Amino acid sequence: MTVDWARAPIRVLVLGRPGSGKGTQGTRLARALEVPHVSTGDLLRAEIGRDGRLGRRVAEHVAAGRLVPDELVDAILRNRLDEPDAITAGFVLDGYPRSIPQAVTLERMLLPAQVTVAVELMVSEREARQRLRARFVCVECGQPQGLRGRDDGAGSGPDPGCARCGGELRRRADDDPGVVARRFAEFTHSTKPLLDWLDRRGRLVSVDAERPPDDVTRAVLAAVGPVVAAVGGPAFLAESELTA
Ligand code: ADP
Repeated sequence: MTVDWARAPIRVLVLGRPGSGKGTQGTRLARALEVPHVSTGDLLRAEIGRDGRLGRRVAEHVAAGRLVPDELVDAILRNRLDEPDAITAGFVLDGYPRSIPQAVTLERMLLPAQVTVAVELMVSEREARQRLRARFVCVECGQPQGLRGRDDGAGSGPDPGCARCGGELRRRADDDPGVVARRFAEFTHSTKPLLDWLDRRGRLVSVDAERPPDDVTRAVLAAVGPVVAAVGGPAFLAESELTA
């Protein structure tokens, strides 16, 4: 039987420590697979931006570098995954699950469907710390950019402005070095056991993400491609579809 890949939902998880490049690689992978990119970090920041009661509760946890309590994240995620595009096409999910209990919740949310594959982006703590120190986000268009050498976030010359739209660049509040330490600890405590759990179930592919972004993208595709093809996804993904 020939499966029309556009009709076979593909559900990919992207995991990795803060600073591993989940957002960048998740966006590219979603574009290549023609599925929505769903980021719990982005969904939570949007909730914070609405500044309602829920947003204020979420903000307290994010600002401290703690995981947001499951009952809040789960509800926000469920609403997104219930939208028609995610149901029919699938998704690349970045930022969830971050713990074994969240993985169990996701399995229940998707039943009877299953996650197709989980990708781990591997970077050392040292490299991730340097990336987060140098990460600034445009207040106008939200584009993140790395500004190595300007890593104290102030007093290092004029703000060069967003490379895309010229907007002002600011550091995300939770990229403050003190908060980053807490986020790394949360990764070790909650997400590392989840990676082992996924690996034991044969669902995990790991990619060396301590390389230039385009090289990582190629490696992600090489790792994900065969699994996706096996469930009716595209057998071949052109390199050009993955970058830019
Ligand atoms: P990173 O992966 O680099 O920490 P994200 O943008 O994915 O960045 O997440 C930012 C913050 O949002 C996290 O530090 C955490 O407070 C919260 N968050 C995101 N996803 C989850 C989740 N699945 N469960 C609980 N909290 C989450």
